[in-house]
Amino acid sequence: MTSHRIRRCNHCGRKYSYQASGGGCFRRENSGKYCPTCAIPIKDAIKAAKAKIRILFTEEWVETEEVTEELLWDYLESVEKERAKGKLIATRIWPGLYKMNEPYDYMNIVAVPHKGKTYRFSYWRGTKEVEKIEEKKWLERI
Ligand SMILES: [Zn+2]
Repeated sequence: MTSHRIRRCNHCGRKYSYQASGGGCFRRENSGKYCPTCAIPIKDAIKAAKAKIRILFTEEWVETEEVTEELLWDYLESVEKERAKGKLIATRIWPGLYKMNEPYDYMNIVAVPHKGKTYRFSYWRGTKEVEKIEEKKWLERI
């Protein structure tokens, strides 16, 4: 769904139409803070300034054996039990793979929070075969 809002530019003060969602909302000049005239030079200036600062760490998913499959299955089961009681529990998901020869089996990829860390659990929905368990880590760039 496409939605537009009339905003006032934080820099020049003119009113403009901001496209909050829908096709084309990722256009460079589309900004929730600045009109198209101001948005492009501001974004270019920020990009140029950031290019001069060395990136020290990047956030990446790294395969791990730190948690067991059982722990992750227990977590998903507990979420389903809470949802069955009517609680709204949001889980982060990613698009997974589909098996071409078994169209109803597809991969679920779910974020699982545990002891202050975030794990990503990839499994085939039909066979319950675990594909990968990863941990979100900040890695130092050399
Ligand atoms: Zn402006």
